[in-house]
Amino acid sequence: MLDLSSGLPYFWIRNGLPFDYPALEHAVRCEVLIVGGGITGALCAHALAEAGLEVVVVDRRTIGTGSTAASTALLQYEIDVPLHELSEQVGERNAARAYLLGVEAVEGLRALCRELGVDAGGRCRSLQFASKRSHESGLRKEQQMRSELGIACEMLEREEVARFIPGIRACGLMSHTAAATDPYALTHALFQAVQRRGGAVYDRTAIRNIEKEGSAYLVRTDRGHLVRARHVVMCTGYESQAHLSEPVMKLHSTYAIAGERKHDGGAWDADLLIWETARPYLYMRGTSNGRVLIGGLDEPFVDASRRDRLLQRKATRLERRFQQLFPTVPFSGEYAWCGTFGTTQDGLPYLDQDPGSGLWYILGMGGNGITFSWIGARIMRDGLLGRRNADRLIFRFGR
Ligand SMILES: Cc1cc2nc3c(=O)[nH]c(=O)nc-3n(C[C@H](O)[C@H](O)[C@H](O)COP(=O)(O)OP(=O)(O)OC[C@H]3O[C@@H](n4cnc5c(N)ncnc54)[C@H](O)[C@@H]3O)c2cc1C
Repeated sequence: MLDLSSGLPYFWIRNGLPFDYPALEHAVRCEVLIVGGGITGALCAHALAEAGLEVVVVDRRTIGTGSTAASTALLQYEIDVPLHELSEQVGERNAARAYLLGVEAVEGLRALCRELGVDAGGRCRSLQFASKRSHESGLRKEQQMRSELGIACEMLEREEVARFIPGIRACGLMSHTAAATDPYALTHALFQAVQRRGGAVYDRTAIRNIEKEGSAYLVRTDRGHLVRARHVVMCTGYESQAHLSEPVMKLHSTYAIAGERKHDGGAWDADLLIWETARPYLYMRGTSNGRVLIGGLDEPFVDASRRDRLLQRKATRLERRFQQLFPTVPFSGEYAWCGTFGTTQDGLPYLDQDPGSGLWYILGMGGNGITFSWIGARIMRDGLLGRRNADRLIFRFGR
């Protein structure tokens, strides 16, 4: 089992253990078994339960305490790979569709947050500034391509960016479709809604073995019980590679801090998300209760003890970077944490049925993993309901 996060992830601390779920202690039959109880499993279970399917969810950890609890949950349509570069990698049509799906996902997630009464759900703006002057022309190209697709965004010149980020003298791209949420609370709220619709959620139950028997799957848990399901959806996050023959992701370590709560938000605009063009990138957002979250400084390894040893140093560097950008905004770090994080070659996730085993994999990787999971939940739901969904081809295995 990977050590997916350590330190004090803010949303986990804030919510504690809002709901308890039992372990699976008996045999069970269902239409769909979802393996993984993070935000991806929750979005998938919710989409299926809404469509009237009978779902059972199992997770080897406590619900939501994989990478979901560590997430800073900026909800952006922008993919880690800019549209103009993605077009070269996967073709203009697929790249454009991936970006437009991102816009739909942000709006869809906002609607879900409102429906379930979860933190935020409001609209944010997202400002990406050029980390170097040489990145400015890329941002201009990006603005033009996105505008041609009908995505609302505008180029801000250096003086305008400085009005938002006083420590920066570079251009930026302002997007008007973005949001932020509490990913851990949203996961629990989705599972509560799934249970109200008759679904069952179990945690501390690992899946050990999956076999096909006729048209059903027989799934054995570590507690020795059998789940018989017509379909299995793997929402196993960054631990999924072990089940796949094709190498699909690279794992990294990433760091985040949450500042102390300020009465007036510390003059910070809670509806503004900030990130940059450098890779790995620094990013920051406010919370609805007056804190600032800052993340980044990724390292290209997953060794947990090596990752954790760097935590204090990374937290200090994140705080220092923030103060360089906002010299007059008071900030004192209160919580610091680190986590595992997965990326793909083209910046797109894998949201597809494995042609060999027939298992569905919804693997929302990259900086906007949560929006990808929303898209994946819909592609998978359509697949199980026998509806055509051409978007699946964009995120297929073997691409
Ligand atoms: C510090 C940090 C900041 C981030 N910031 C953002 C952000 O701003 N915006 C964004 O969109 N994304 C962000 N991400 C990424 C985002 O958090 C992930 O995309 C998301 O949490 C993935 O959710 P998941 O449900 O797929 O994975 P997880 O939450 O890891 O859930 C997978 C679950 O599967 C279970 N599992 C695995 N194998 C088995 C098995 N054999 N049997 C039973 N259960 C199993 C695990 O126990 C786990 O709970 C960030 C990630 C980190 C670490």
